[in-house]
Amino acid sequence: MPLEPPRELLVTDPNAAGILGQLMADRNRFAVAALRPDFDRTPPAMIADRLRLSSPGTGDDRRPLDSWLVMAAPTSDEPLSPDTWRGRLKPWNSQRLVVLLVGLPPDNAGWRGWVFQAGEVDPLAGFRIVAGGMPEAGGIDTYDAASDPKWSRTVKAVGETAFNKASRASVAVIGASRLGSAVAFQLAGVGVRRITLVDPDVLEPHNIVGSVGLRAEDSGEKKVLALARSLIAFRPDLAVTAVPYDFLDRRAKLHGADLIVSAVDRDAGRLAASHWARRHGAVHLDIGTGVTRQGIDRLLAADVRLFLPGAGCVRCVGGLGDLDQAEYELRAPPGAAPRRPPEKWDARGRLGSLPTLNALAASTGVQLWLDLLTCDLGGSAWHRVRWVPGKGLELAVARVTAGAECVACRRKNVA
Ligand SMILES: [Zn+2]
Repeated sequence: MPLEPPRELLVTDPNAAGILGQLMADRNRFAVAALRPDFDRTPPAMIADRLRLSSPGTGDDRRPLDSWLVMAAPTSDEPLSPDTWRGRLKPWNSQRLVVLLVGLPPDNAGWRGWVFQAGEVDPLAGFRIVAGGMPEAGGIDTYDAASDPKWSRTVKAVGETAFNKASRASVAVIGASRLGSAVAFQLAGVGVRRITLVDPDVLEPHNIVGSVGLRAEDSGEKKVLALARSLIAFRPDLAVTAVPYDFLDRRAKLHGADLIVSAVDRDAGRLAASHWARRHGAVHLDIGTGVTRQGIDRLLAADVRLFLPGAGCVRCVGGLGDLDQAEYELRAPPGAAPRRPPEKWDARGRLGSLPTLNALAASTGVQLWLDLLTCDLGGSAWHRVRWVPGKGLELAVARVTAGAECVACRRKNVA
């Protein structure tokens, strides 16, 4: 039985903007990419990791089971029928070919796309270029949340296009405690409609006082369930999925996410979120906060890092305490004996946690993501926020890119 053809396309190449610019400048050129399916998404999608400018060739130049993408920006007087492209590119029935035409009228913003598979052709439902400042078009979800009057203030603040992108995005939040709850409520407050919460733990009284939206009687409840209930009370139109497992547990399965947020204490969780994001073409927002002692002073600090696929990750930009240990925790088979006792919560000089600092970090992270949706942010970014007692806020902001040797960012999947 043939697989359901994937209907959406994700292009995750960090250089997509430049390549698109070259296609628009020379309307006779083509960009080609190998495609890999993502059947964990509902509905399934195709991911193009690496575009290159090249002759498109034909199905005869490829292997029998290849999947590939051909992008072009043809002149408006070229015929735009799928039969023309099938005749030109000659995909075999055993292959899967996606043709995406961009830069069409009106105003170069029009597009057409088709999926050729098993001798059939289906229209491409939509495409998204997961890179700062890049467009998205079509898609299965066409709900126009911006027309709902309750969002009038928010829509004006971020713009209708970005607001609709946020409302159609699916977001996974790993860690549903103090920081995770602050992030989840902010996401719900900027219009996100689908949130998945992942956390295995049960609420204790010290979790409740530091979290957002929880009640004293939630003590003893699974964190994800109490937080989900509270989010739905806040926004009854929100679809919340509660996953009561550790993200490293194979049972913690996500059915697609456009943004994955790690708000966890352990580096293995950050690394797992980073791998997941890379595999599924998602944006990764990693947030960590801590109140530590430095000499005789307390230091309130947060690291907020937004990573686009292939453009830097927690592995290559630094910031993980012990990458080797995190790798071990991530890859050890279920039931394997621990290599060392788990690190105590207050290891590395950690004193405690503050809702003020968590709110600051959550706001910085969610706003970074909004900047990506408004196309104001063009790449991955790291914000280090410090509150120096008696002085106030100090900020360091850096753009980050993929490490030259990073096996995660520079994975090969080239046409
Ligand atoms: Zn990397």
